[in-house]
Amino acid sequence: MILIVGGAGYIGSHINQMLCENGYQTVVFDNLVYGHREAVMNGILEEGDLSDTGRLDVIFKKYKIDAVFHFAAYAYVGESVDNPGKYYNNNVTNTLHLLDTMLSHGVKDIVFSSTCATYGVPDKIPITEEMVQRPINPYGASKLMVERILSDYHQAYGLNYCCLRYFNAAGADPEGKIGESHIPETHLIPLVLAAAAGDRENIQVFGTDYQTKDGSCIRDYIHVTDLADAHIKAMNYLKKGGESTCFNLGNASGTSVLEIIDAAKEITGRNITVEYCERRPGDPPILVGDAEKAKRILGWKQQYGDIQIILRHAWNWYCNRRY
Ligand code: UDP
Repeated sequence: MILIVGGAGYIGSHINQMLCENGYQTVVFDNLVYGHREAVMNGILEEGDLSDTGRLDVIFKKYKIDAVFHFAAYAYVGESVDNPGKYYNNNVTNTLHLLDTMLSHGVKDIVFSSTCATYGVPDKIPITEEMVQRPINPYGASKLMVERILSDYHQAYGLNYCCLRYFNAAGADPEGKIGESHIPETHLIPLVLAAAAGDRENIQVFGTDYQTKDGSCIRDYIHVTDLADAHIKAMNYLKKGGESTCFNLGNASGTSVLEIIDAAKEITGRNITVEYCERRPGDPPILVGDAEKAKRILGWKQQYGDIQIILRHAWNWYCNRRY
């Protein structure tokens, strides 16, 4: 049985679906604060919060857990700047509860959802795993702390881990069954699509004076289905005795905010009104990841690297979404 903590969220639900389609049995543990019950189309859903260690213990007693995927975290950069306590409590303290419960039940393998936000403002692009990690917001700092904790737990207690540092997760299940739906929504692509659909008046572009080709921020958008595939490969790698380590998951190609808006106009065939705004605090100008290590060691390969395909799947989901 595979435990997916935070499996009702955007990324976790895609991993749950892919695991189940590949014959794995899963239990999703989620407090459903940001996750959606409807996103858990397969496997068993157990409601609960990681702060509730008693409940966590019950889950580990009830199911024979072979490995854990951990997605349960707050992930709003801006909110983390305004309310860091919320981020350190949930993302760090509650992760300790999970790790300690795993150890007390003899569960040794975990795939952890980390982020490119741990790098802060990188010295060079594309970012490789050995580059220095200097997060510039509490969200990134909270994820980096967990990376450090995992490394220490590995040394001391023999916990095995893969930290997967995602760049910008985007797109949706190609069949359109599940997709991205955050409340509140702060992510660029769903907001751009909402503007295209007429559900918002416009899209605000946060910063037009960055040192980039068009002045707007550049990000590396990676299809959520490709992320899901990498997670399963990471779990199998650990199961085969692979060394605990961290992997970047990105496309090694950057797309600017303005390029996303232009591509979305083309895909949707709709007009999108743009409002140019101030920079958003906590945003590095350019984040593009080198994922050669994941390709080499995990045998991972993106299937949906093209931003047009990512936007097409996201638009299909947006127009037909169930939650
Ligand atoms: N962004 C924007 N307008 C929005 C939302 C986001 O210009 O309404 C920009 C944001 O400043 C960043 C990029 O789009 O440069 C991607 O932001 P998102 O929140 O999607 O992901 P993040 O990079 O923060 O993880």
